[in-house]
Amino acid sequence: MTTLDGRRVAEKVVAAAAADIAALARAPGLATVLVGDDPASEIYVRNKRRRCVAAGIRDLHRRFGADVTQDELAAAIRALGGDPGVTGILLQLPLPPHLDADALVSLIPPDKDVDGLTETNAGRLALGRPGLIPCTPLGVLELLDAHGIALAGAEAVVVGRSNLVGKPMAQLLLRRHATVTVCHSRTRDLTAVCRRADVLIAAAGIPGLITAEAVKPGATVVDVGIHRTPDGLRGDVDFDPVSAVAGAITPVPGGVGPMTIAMLLANTVAAATPGRARARPGRRGGQIRE
Ligand code: NAP
Repeated sequence: MTTLDGRRVAEKVVAAAAADIAALARAPGLATVLVGDDPASEIYVRNKRRRCVAAGIRDLHRRFGADVTQDELAAAIRALGGDPGVTGILLQLPLPPHLDADALVSLIPPDKDVDGLTETNAGRLALGRPGLIPCTPLGVLELLDAHGIALAGAEAVVVGRSNLVGKPMAQLLLRRHATVTVCHSRTRDLTAVCRRADVLIAAAGIPGLITAEAVKPGATVVDVGIHRTPDGLRGDVDFDPVSAVAGAITPVPGGVGPMTIAMLLANTVAAATPGRARARPGRRGGQIRE
């Protein structure tokens, strides 16, 4: 059984991004936008900023109280969008319930949308055109590639259909010629569908949802889920029994999490250097190998 080591691959992606940044005349400027005091979001944003600064990205963080209005936040995002010193914008989700996240995301200029969440970037991905791709699925693909996991012709099953993870993951796997099935909360007999997979991506947000029974012997299993439990972090996959059946598996922590942050750096570089990044096939961040 192979462990898909996200920390090791992420270090390589981060080092490549840092080298690209060092070669630029002006470092990319990333505006992370954090609203309210959700503890998990605070930790995520702090980690993202720390890694970005270490790689040479200018930290243009903006923080708003939980009582910020839609209009105030919209004005701030418009201002960041129009500021040439800001090359990337990340609006940390979820937002407090009185705010319309979709409307705010749509104000991010697509070429600064380092999370790949705007309609334009989702459309580009669906149409197979260059664009900025959500960091988590892009990181999963990078991790699979780094371990030589074959995708063309493989049966791939994605559990989850969110705009952030499941849908772009399915698009990326399809682009890489896998035969893709997407499962969700209304899928009948999830275990039987998952068991068909050569490559199984679990992104449902339910701890331990994927049991050993749901995994074909020798399959590659990628666990996107992150749950804080009294016993520490765990994922959507019941790790010990599944690792006895799988051919390759991501740990939690140390699998997809580090890859997500690494791809944010890669996307931030790509957003700051659109012509260069998109002209070179096989480049990381906002690009995938066909
Ligand atoms: P989400 O928006 O809540 O989406 C969850 C998806 O799972 C939905 O499509 C839902 O189906 C589906 N689902 C729920 N219960 C299911 C069941 N019993 N069987 C099959 N499908 C089921 O979550 P998300 O943002 O995609 O995130 C998923 C997980 O990944 C979370 O644990 C999140 O914390 C984690 N995450 C990790 C990273 C990382 O860096 N490692 C990054 C992002 C997210 P319906 O559409 O039918 O409701």
